Amino acid sequence: MLDCAIIGGGPAGLTAGLYATRGGLENVTLFEMGMPGGQITKSSEIENYPGFFDSSKTGLEFMDTWQKQCFHFGLKHVMKKVELIVKTGEHFTITLEGGEMVEALSVIVATGSVPKRAGFNGEDEFFGKGVSTCATCDGFFYKNKPVTVLGGGDTALEEALFLSNICSDVYVVHRREKFKAAPPTLERVAKKENIHLMTDSVIDEAYGGMMGLDGVKIKNTKTNEVTEMKNTGLFVFVGLNIRNDVLKDENGKFICAMSDSGQVIVDLRMRTDVAGLFVAGDLRIDAPKQVVSAAADGSIAALEVMTYLQELE
Ligand code: FAD
Repeated sequence: MLDCAIIGGGPAGLTAGLYATRGGLENVTLFEMGMPGGQITKSSEIENYPGFFDSSKTGLEFMDTWQKQCFHFGLKHVMKKVELIVKTGEHFTITLEGGEMVEALSVIVATGSVPKRAGFNGEDEFFGKGVSTCATCDGFFYKNKPVTVLGGGDTALEEALFLSNICSDVYVVHRREKFKAAPPTLERVAKKENIHLMTDSVIDEAYGGMMGLDGVKIKNTKTNEVTEMKNTGLFVFVGLNIRNDVLKDENGKFICAMSDSGQVIVDLRMRTDVAGLFVAGDLRIDAPKQVVSAAADGSIAALEVMTYLQELE
């Protein structure tokens, strides 16, 4: 029987693992279906994590020490997807992909979120073949070539800045007149001569053939004018989908209270309405969706698990 099962190995899950093991719990396992690190490993840079100021480091490099630190203090990692969580009496039964079952006295769910698709014609057809949600992973394929970026928030513009150092030109397509990104990011964008902002515009179509994406049609929604970009990569940054499937029972019903937008309702101690079940990071209601806040949530959840286990004894 595990003292605590942590599901999801992003900043929230890893920090929960660090606090739980370093706080004295011996039997803590992190279930992470891939390599630990979470969605920030897809980012080309991070410059808003306090104390870490090295824009030459990618998100992947940034997260590398996190897992080493956790494993040093005794966190175990099982690289499997969790499919189901059931509470029976005072313990939880966790079903892993393949059917294996594990029991735990407490559970911290930190399964985060994933980038959303925008829904334009050709997006699914050319996803991974010219359409991408990861500039760090795919930007290099467009060295000295033009690329198009879809989105108007911080992530879209940060990734546009990253691409502007590799690609000849970066065309940022945004459906509104004004961008939502933070002022310092907008200032950096304004200084880049090879970033071109296309406001009031949408992707009309991504087209291509067997070999992948050939081009993109961009439509100005005010003038209806269509601009065609040939030989371009298309990077989509239009928000996130919350990963809450693991909290559904066999009938598809959530096992704890959820908000209308699919985030878990927790209190300030990261407690759900199910005793012993805690949620941290992007998955929880009102999450600021930042590494620093996900990490803070993880620490709170782990400290609360320790209190919960003491009360159980
Ligand atoms: P995640 O990081 O999403 O981690 C969740 C983990 O759970 C994943 O590793 C996933 O594989 C795993 N998982 C999901 N379901 C299961 C399951 N059923 N079983 C097992 N494992 C599962 N934030 C900043 O503060 N600064 C930035 O500059 C910044 N830039 C970003 C750039 C990009 C391109 C992206 C995508 C995000 C960026 N963010 C940034 C946001 C930040 O990465 C997230 O807010 C943060 O990672 C959330 O952490 P989390 O632990 O809640 O979830």
